[in-house]
Amino acid sequence: MIISVASGKGGTGKTLVATSLALSLKDRDRVQLLDCDVEEPNDHVFLRPVIARSEVVSIPVPKVDEAKCNYCGKCAEVCVYNAIAVFKEKVLIFPQLCHGCGACSYLCPEEAISEEGKEVGILELGSADGVEFTHGRLNIGEAMAPPIIRRVKAQANYNGTVIIDVPPGTSCPVVEAVKDSDFCLLVTEPTPFGLNDLVLAVETVRELNIPCGVILNRVGVGDSKVEEYCLKEDIPILLTIPLDIDIARLYSRGITLVEGMPQWKQSFLGLFGKIREIVNERGGGIKR
Ligand code: SF4
Ligand code: SF4
Repeated sequence: MIISVASGKGGTGKTLVATSLALSLKDRDRVQLLDCDVEEPNDHVFLRPVIARSEVVSIPVPKVDEAKCNYCGKCAEVCVYNAIAVFKEKVLIFPQLCHGCGACSYLCPEEAISEEGKEVGILELGSADGVEFTHGRLNIGEAMAPPIIRRVKAQANYNGTVIIDVPPGTSCPVVEAVKDSDFCLLVTEPTPFGLNDLVLAVETVRELNIPCGVILNRVGVGDSKVEEYCLKEDIPILLTIPLDIDIARLYSRGITLVEGMPQWKQSFLGLFGKIREIVNERGGGIKR
């Protein structure tokens, strides 16, 4: 089963949930934690994995042989990312905008376009206290997160439980990380900002037809609007975590909740049980 852990905005407690859920399950099942928050991965800070292997992630960007090019403009026409501009006697490539889709080289009538690898980041694989661990790191200044996210997700082993830590927000990298999940946990806090971003995140996962549930973190601040929204939208609140100075202290020291307060393990196991029930009610999740 693949469970993604997402939030409409950063700083809501996504890392706390992903790492504690993984550590709670590791004695019962094969567990993988895939940190797809490739712009700012931080699960490793809490899990302290031993990295056994790393791989460079590259995307193919076009290179034009102007001796063959007739400046027909076809490549610029097919590039939906505006990564190519064709002038009277010059073709310009903008590698930062290129998604490496290969459409331009495939459709060039003169076979004037070849491809060369452009490094966008790295993948690191290892293990942490019985949890199989993978994360990606996007190079600084690089905008192409989806290719690294795809590489991180390609490590998923469907024979166990896979937990995906999703980038914050609702943009392309989020969709790339969440899609194909059996369930999506949405972590939020009971504030107007939390509600606003939760509504956007719910719209995204519903668009992807993925069942979701909410984890309400820092309960004690804000108001009851998130709960009212969840009730109205029939979204289950699967776990609440209070605003607690001891939890905040653990987090600031890079200690997971279930390590610092082992009594939380049962709550995370209960959370997993509720997710499994919901997924089973829907027919057992995605067939792979
Ligand atoms: S499609 Fe090929 S021939 Fe046409 S402008 Fe682009 S590189 Fe040149
Ligand atoms: S590979 Fe795709 S994204 Fe990159 S320049 Fe060609 S068409 Fe555009």
